[in-house]
Amino acid sequence: MKHAQSHALFDRARRLMPGGVNSPVRAFKSVGGEPFFARRAEGAYLIDVDGNRYVDYIGSWGPMIAGHAHPLVLEAVARVMRDGLSFGVPNPLEVTMAETITRLVPSCEMVRMVNSGTEATLSAIRLARGATGRSRIVKFEGCYHGHGDSFLVKAGSGMLTLGVPDSPGVPKALADLTSTLPYNDFDAASRLFAAQGDEIAALIVEPIVGNANCILPREGFLQHLRELCTRHGALLIFDEVMTGFRVALGGAQQRYGITPDLSTFGKIIGGGMPVGAYGGRADLLQQIAPSGPIYQAGTLSGNPVAMAAGLATLELIQAPGFHAALEQRTHELCDGLEAAAREAGVPVTTNRSCAMFGLFFTDRHVDNFTDATHCDIAAFRRFFHGMLKRGVYIAPSAYEAGFLSSAHGDFEIAHTLEAAREAFREAAAG
Ligand SMILES: *Cc1c(COP(=O)(O)O)cnc(C)c1O
Repeated sequence: MKHAQSHALFDRARRLMPGGVNSPVRAFKSVGGEPFFARRAEGAYLIDVDGNRYVDYIGSWGPMIAGHAHPLVLEAVARVMRDGLSFGVPNPLEVTMAETITRLVPSCEMVRMVNSGTEATLSAIRLARGATGRSRIVKFEGCYHGHGDSFLVKAGSGMLTLGVPDSPGVPKALADLTSTLPYNDFDAASRLFAAQGDEIAALIVEPIVGNANCILPREGFLQHLRELCTRHGALLIFDEVMTGFRVALGGAQQRYGITPDLSTFGKIIGGGMPVGAYGGRADLLQQIAPSGPIYQAGTLSGNPVAMAAGLATLELIQAPGFHAALEQRTHELCDGLEAAAREAGVPVTTNRSCAMFGLFFTDRHVDNFTDATHCDIAAFRRFFHGMLKRGVYIAPSAYEAGFLSSAHGDFEIAHTLEAAREAFREAAAG
């Protein structure tokens, strides 16, 4: 594989942008080497500026659940685009989007569109604080809720990849208002609420953790959180920026049968355009400006082109059997990866939920963030590069989940498993 063009671009980029990138995990810091620059993408593939093709298991970190450059999504964008890119007054697609989200996710009686997942979670905790008159936020170790000050405490994703426990620049006074808990620990949550329950505005959780690789909730854990919040008058926020519309049409809350007070979304609802949303109980959303006093606004919020891309994607995923087929594919892939690792004598375990999965270099089941940190990172690194040179792109970090799309077919899975058999052998050789 040649990388001359990517290498030249990265040289230029490094002088102009921090780390040469606009989001940290893209820089390949935790796997070594240099990132490739995408020229285009189609279906399950990324094609770089040197002409190399990769089966892509990132899907732009979640949005591309229907595959890259899906013709129906591109058509919808092209159609809307001709009428103008932004109006600054209401447009009909915003109403359709709100109708679609509230129909697919019944806990959301009302929604507000924003421009990123970060903005959605920031706005949701402001609403929670404003509505409860309390200040404390509870989150879980290894959960990532975007880069808002209150969330950069024991956060996942790039924070783990770079080994930064807490970011400089977050005022201590604000960080002190965030309490953290180990995921899947029933007793720790009970104890925290017993001690601080009447100060807690909201508990925010990734109902399936997708930012410390992929970790599933234990049986009854989300229900336990629901009960603690209800008992202590705190709001339960499901951050479904990643899981929303991915692990089921109605997100993790549908999969586990839990009704949160507020939910946050992003990624899939933008279909690849910059979008976020928060929604929930009408009595809470009514407290947002201009119907209520809690302020939140956005010049480009509800942007027609972004709404068109999101709506087209949401249309595609409502096809009967869409998620069942994805789930089946994910099982084929993960079973195949485990078998290939066993053959090579590499201890590996997987977690999966529909169209997302985690591959861990350990023989123990991974149930929380601490378990995830006990993986063999050096072996992962060798595996990552072994896959990359065989044209398979998995996340360039042991702490990121993998994503499938409906464009991943038999051929792509077979190619991936063939590459994995060789890459695991290289990972074992050290
Ligand atoms: C990606 C993500 C975010 C942040 O979304 P951005 O659009 O990157 O700001 C927040 N929460 C979760 C669970 C995410 O996966």
